[in-house]
Amino acid sequence: MRQSKLFYKALKKTSKDAEAISHVLLTRASFVDQAAAGIFTFLPLGFKVLKKIEDIIREEMIAIEGQEVLMPALIPKENWEKTGRWNSFDVLFKLKSKKEYGLGPTHEEIIVPLAKKIVLSYKDLPFYLFQIQTKFRDELRVKSGLLRTREFLMKDLYSFHIDEKDLGKYYEKVSKAYLNIFKRCEVKAYKTLASGGSFSQFSHEYQMPTNAGEDVIHICSKCNTAINNEIKSKVKKCPDCNGSKFEQKKAVEIGNIFNLSDKYSLPFNLKFKDKDGKEKPVIMGCYGIGLGRLMAAVVEANNDKNGIVWPKEIAPFDIHLIEINAKKQADKLYNELQKQGKEVLYDDRADKAPGEKFAEADLIGIPIRMVVSEKTLKNNSVELKNRNKKKVCLIKFSHISQII
Ligand SMILES: [Zn+2]
Repeated sequence: MRQSKLFYKALKKTSKDAEAISHVLLTRASFVDQAAAGIFTFLPLGFKVLKKIEDIIREEMIAIEGQEVLMPALIPKENWEKTGRWNSFDVLFKLKSKKEYGLGPTHEEIIVPLAKKIVLSYKDLPFYLFQIQTKFRDELRVKSGLLRTREFLMKDLYSFHIDEKDLGKYYEKVSKAYLNIFKRCEVKAYKTLASGGSFSQFSHEYQMPTNAGEDVIHICSKCNTAINNEIKSKVKKCPDCNGSKFEQKKAVEIGNIFNLSDKYSLPFNLKFKDKDGKEKPVIMGCYGIGLGRLMAAVVEANNDKNGIVWPKEIAPFDIHLIEINAKKQADKLYNELQKQGKEVLYDDRADKAPGEKFAEADLIGIPIRMVVSEKTLKNNSVELKNRNKKKVCLIKFSHISQII
């Protein structure tokens, strides 16, 4: 992509209400634009990152036998009335047109009646359905940019089982998949005990420590198990190692797992015929990750005073190629790198000074910066720098393909 054609503008400042560093940097570097409070547009750079996060999550969900579906955002009022959530769900966006609908913040009200059409016997279980879809929450208060929004892209996975034991086994698989996702995005997530599940041993949040977070967690200094602030008063010792020393940190939730048990199966009468001929309720689990929030968490964890430092796997481009009075040679290199399958952002802008180009490259945060200038051409070389390192080195044109 030629930067001269990119829909992009680096901003010197952001609005005063931008407190979280991820909000400041993602706005300044033109990854997102705030259309209204808690409502964002993903610009070309941001959309590329979002799609890469989506690819990682999809891969990891398919690896644990998740099957992808796409459910509607419009969920009829009568479905919400069945579970009692039309009145009790305080963040539900209610829509009144010719009929009444809730805009889905979660999808039990669609997926349970759907499962009922397929599940008859124990032979139909287990199965695992997920979607990556836009969700809505009518939050009273939105702040911290992408960390808390009213409309957001989310991966939600639902699992259906014959009993708690089978759910427990699958829970462990999801837990590993989640850790893979966070590792590939280069964020450190703590598996955190939380309330909210029907069976406490299966209710977990994945929390990333950051000062921009709204939650507080207590990390066991012996085994790294974390406990959510809400349940800390009930837990004196670490449930995993009996340790009693904890470190308190502010954190943001980047994933969660709920054991739903039969909470939603019962109102929709989702049952199966077991081996013994008896009808039993289907046991369910649900597992969420917000993509935009994860993207913001990545930026909270990977930045310096000059800008974002994207992890390799989700960076918008592999290489940021900068041209300084060496258009012909830089054009040639741009074409060659693309032929090698590299994703390149090429700063070919003629009206920008070198200093401006370097500052904006640091702000955008692509992992590798390459500079072709009159100076490097004297050595028949390009200048190479990793975004997360200080060292700059010259590489001969003929050696580039061996280095990157
Ligand atoms: Zn412990």
